[in-house]
Amino acid sequence: MSGAPLNAFCVDLEEWWHICAADTPYTDPKTWDSAPPFVVKDTEILMRLLDEAGAKGTFLTVGWVAEKYPSLIKRLADAGHEIGCHTHYHRVVYEQTPEEFDADIGQCLKVLREISGQPVNSFRAPGFSMKREAFAYAYPILRKHGIEVDVSIVPAARDHGGVAGFTRDPFMLNIPATRWGPQNTMKCWPVSVMDFLGKTMPFSGGGYLRLFPMALVKHGYRQNHRAGRPGMSYIHPREVDTTQPRLKLPWKKYFKYYVGIAGCEGKLREVLKTFKFTTIADVLRHVRAWPEYDLVLRGSGARDGDIVPSTSARPVTSAHKVA
Ligand SMILES: [Zn+2]
Repeated sequence: MSGAPLNAFCVDLEEWWHICAADTPYTDPKTWDSAPPFVVKDTEILMRLLDEAGAKGTFLTVGWVAEKYPSLIKRLADAGHEIGCHTHYHRVVYEQTPEEFDADIGQCLKVLREISGQPVNSFRAPGFSMKREAFAYAYPILRKHGIEVDVSIVPAARDHGGVAGFTRDPFMLNIPATRWGPQNTMKCWPVSVMDFLGKTMPFSGGGYLRLFPMALVKHGYRQNHRAGRPGMSYIHPREVDTTQPRLKLPWKKYFKYYVGIAGCEGKLREVLKTFKFTTIADVLRHVRAWPEYDLVLRGSGARDGDIVPSTSARPVTSAHKVA
C-alpha cells in the first residue's frame, strides 16, 4: 500500500459517558470520579488494532482523562501516536462563553503537553460542535493557545454542529486580529463525508461506521480518494466495548450511540487492512495545495462569524491532491 492514498485514524479519547447534549447522571464533572472506568481498557483495544495494522493514529484527548490516566497518554505518545486536544471537560463549544472556552482549552493543553511531551497542536470540538455560532471566538482562542490544526467541522447537517454545504477539503483559514491575538492562520480539515442517495453524510466513524455495511464505508473512502482528498476516521474507545453500562437516552440518540458496537472492532480491523492510516500531522504534511478561506467577523457580536473563500488569495487550480 506504499502509494495508496493516506487517511488519518482519529480517536476521540474520552470515557463512555462523554456524550454531548444529553441529560445523564454524568453531566456534572464532579460525578466522574465515581463512575465505573472503561477508557483505559477500551483504548488498549484500539492500540492493538493499530499495532496489528502497523498504523499510527491521532488521539484527540479529553484533558480530564489525561489527568486521571497519565500513563495511558505516555504510552500512546511513546508508541508514536499523536496527541491532540478534545477540551478538558468535553462541553459543547457554542454553549460556552469565549472566556469559559479560553480557560478550558488552556487547562487541557497544559495537561496534555506536560504528560505527552508533544507540542499538541491539533483540536477537535466535542460532538463536532464547531459551527457558525462559535467560529468568531473559537478559532482566535484556539490559535492563541498554539492550536495549528482543527478537525472539528462536519460539512453536513448534524444534531449539534455541522455546516451543510461546507467545503470538504483541507484549507488554510485566515484569522483576523481580535482581542485574543494578532492576525494568524490555521489549517482546517473537515471530517470525511460522502454523497449517497442524494444525501451528504459521514461514514467513517461513530454510528455511521457501525450502522453502514462495510461496502458502503469503503465506497465513502474511495469517493474521497477519487477527489484527491485524504479520508479521516473518527472513533471513540467505548465503540468497541459491549460491556459498558448503557445510559438512558432518547430512543434516537440511544440507537445512534449503541448500534453495532459488537461488530465495530471487526469493521475497524477491515478498514485498517484495506486503507493506509496514519496521524493527522502525517497526512497534512502530504497535502500539496491549501485553498485559503477567511474567518469573517460580522459586526461586533462574539457569535457572529463566518468562513468564506478568501478574496485576497490566489486561485487554486489543482487543489487538495495529496502527494
Ligand atoms: Zn467527544
